[in-house]
Amino acid sequence: MPRGVIPRQPAKTGRHEGARGRQAKALKAVGSSARLGGTGAHVRTQSSKPVGPRSGRAPVAKKANAAQKTKGYNPLAPQRVAEILARLDRLYPDVTCALTHTSAWELLVATILSAQSTDVNVNRVTPELFRKYPTVQDFAALTPEQLEPDVRSTGFFRNKSKSVVGAAKKIASDFGGEVPDEMDKLLTLPGVARKTANVVLGTWFKQAVGVVVDTHVIRISRRLELTQNTDPAKIEQDLMQAIAVDRWILFAHQIIWHGRKLCVARRPKCVDCPLENLCHAADKTWTTVEVHKNAKP
Ligand code: SF4
Repeated sequence: MPRGVIPRQPAKTGRHEGARGRQAKALKAVGSSARLGGTGAHVRTQSSKPVGPRSGRAPVAKKANAAQKTKGYNPLAPQRVAEILARLDRLYPDVTCALTHTSAWELLVATILSAQSTDVNVNRVTPELFRKYPTVQDFAALTPEQLEPDVRSTGFFRNKSKSVVGAAKKIASDFGGEVPDEMDKLLTLPGVARKTANVVLGTWFKQAVGVVVDTHVIRISRRLELTQNTDPAKIEQDLMQAIAVDRWILFAHQIIWHGRKLCVARRPKCVDCPLENLCHAADKTWTTVEVHKNAKP
């Protein structure tokens, strides 16, 4: 967080009560979190006195205090992680992949096309694409150049065309025209890394082999201090350690939705976020708890 920029605090006048009321509604029955995260000093209930400087010239002292108070704090404490998952369940109970698809192949293509693009953008392109080329073999018969005009609007269309046609040729020649349901085999396909493989395995084959780590998962996992890493492979390992295997698939879907709805990249909507008092992100826009300078995207 830039020096001197301090997350907004609840006003003494109570002018945030409406916003906190919305949070309280979302959190109803989730229970108290005051004991979560290791030391009680780090997670306070909404009725606790908000922490933080009262004037604009306190950042240095505030950092020192926060450093002292974070001693012994464990962001991976099982109770804290369980509470985060419980709140995500209440907020996003039935979410799944937002990419439109009717087969493993369509999901694979849509996921490749979604790199550096939005799901909405991809969903605009894929219905016509799969109408024009209904099978893996239809794609395998193309050259990348022939596919380029159809996927141009998703961005990076030359690389994506190469990946999709290359994957189709490999699936047709080596896997009998069927998308493989094993991580090792998926990773042999052009344009497919662990993120794409995890999407296909988790969403289509219902196999929890790993955790999908996309831009939302990276940003929010770091804000929530579920990882300190920046490398997606290491972040995935951290999440696999912190979260039970039976939650890997749903957790990623929930975090991706959270990243779209509230925990957006710039100016996250913290005042409306049911995770707020569990979150110490340095770039929070509103807070009732200490911020941790390392908890940043
Ligand atoms: S409180 Fe803000 S930064 Fe933390 S998870 Fe919620 S929206 Fe994201």
